[in-house]
Amino acid sequence: MSDTYDYDLVVVGGGPAGSSAAFEAAKNGTRVALIEKEESIAETVRTSGVTWIKNIKEFGIPDDCFNPIRNFSFCSPNNEVTISDSVPRAAVLDVRKTYRWLAKQAEKSGADIFVKTNVNEVIKNDKGDIIGVRASEPNGKITFNSKVVIDASGFPSTVCKAMGYVTQWERFGAGAEYEVKAENVDSETWWLMVGQQYSPAGYAWIFPLGDNIVRIGVGVGKPESDVDPTQRLNELIDNRVGPIKKLGKITQLEFHYGLIPNDGLSRQTVFNNLILVGDSAGQANPLVLEGIRYAIRFGRVAGKVASDAIKSGNTDKNSLYPYEDHWRKEIESKINSAGRVQDRWIGLTDEEWDKELNIIKELKSEEFLDFIKADFGLSNMVKLATRHPKLAVRQLFNLVKGKN
Ligand SMILES: Cc1cc2nc3c(=O)[nH]c(=O)nc-3n(C[C@H](O)[C@H](O)[C@H](O)COP(=O)(O)OP(=O)(O)OC[C@H]3O[C@@H](n4cnc5c(N)ncnc54)[C@H](O)[C@@H]3O)c2cc1C
Repeated sequence: MSDTYDYDLVVVGGGPAGSSAAFEAAKNGTRVALIEKEESIAETVRTSGVTWIKNIKEFGIPDDCFNPIRNFSFCSPNNEVTISDSVPRAAVLDVRKTYRWLAKQAEKSGADIFVKTNVNEVIKNDKGDIIGVRASEPNGKITFNSKVVIDASGFPSTVCKAMGYVTQWERFGAGAEYEVKAENVDSETWWLMVGQQYSPAGYAWIFPLGDNIVRIGVGVGKPESDVDPTQRLNELIDNRVGPIKKLGKITQLEFHYGLIPNDGLSRQTVFNNLILVGDSAGQANPLVLEGIRYAIRFGRVAGKVASDAIKSGNTDKNSLYPYEDHWRKEIESKINSAGRVQDRWIGLTDEEWDKELNIIKELKSEEFLDFIKADFGLSNMVKLATRHPKLAVRQLFNLVKGKN
């Protein structure tokens, strides 16, 4: 069987970027198809779901979708630091619930959602510009004609790859994680674990979700390390290394695995009739490889810009450029700064990590959070780089500013 549909906008991928783009475009009166290849939205979880309460509130994500975090603990082989906040500013998302809420928002605004629909081909006009996609679904093939396509397919970047605009990411993070029920959990405290035994190019984590459930994971930078994150995670859990030991008895509930681009903001993200957003655009904070808030924020911008262009009757790359202009102004210099810190962190030995934690200890909670979020406001950076009482902290922030 083969069906054909005509839409103004086709969004490929029902993750946070795709659902947010579909929501904003549908709200703006555009006929939208949101296409997801899995059985249901967020059937497979590929992320550990840490994000920031300020962003959660800005997006209107309901309170029952996250667990608030107030204490930020770090450990290296021979050092440990906990930075505590008076109020929680970070959160661990119930990923499935949040992503389904985002898709529901899109549906309520009028977007049509197609699940079990795997996009595997692009349709081009005689100038070579995209004018739709073809997909397989359990009963056959579907053709979606559209004026604009948004590629929100995440790491695989299905559409822009099929167009020949990009190749596979060269530098990326690979992460493995168990969601477990544990005996002893402090639900307000996360753990980041650094050093060779945890991950030779990356870090391990314990992120609590409430109700004694935590996510324990390992992320490894590729191609810097050939360590398999799943194997390393099993070793850390089997040997109860570091703060994992404090969790007591552990019962595994679910396994998660995912890849996240770490090539910086290297991609052009608008082409004639096409926008890339979220992981397909490489929009991730390289310090901790978090991208959910960018996916939602820039997904919404992409949806609005696409639908305005559709209404205007001109969907060439210049008409879609306001989207790229928006996200570049908002995050490009911050991501570049964070990339410099990441380069420093990837090269640290265990002894150097022990010392780095002493620098982190000197930060106030809001300074630490701005830092880890790569939210480098210029005035803050200048203040920390020139006036912080500790030389090592000044050096770290000079690196952020790009001075050494
Ligand atoms: C191990 C790991 C841990 C992470 N932890 C965090 C974290 O703590 N905090 C944070 O903010 N970020 C984290 N990230 C990054 C975060 O998950 C991504 O930045 C975010 O999911 C990007 O959203 P997206 O919508 O662009 O892509 P995705 O969430 O990957 O969504 C893409 C969707 O497209 C669908 N799709 C793909 N191809 C097709 C196709 N051909 N046809 C139809 N549908 C298709 C997929 O099934 C998927 O549902 C982590 C990533 C990894 C790998």
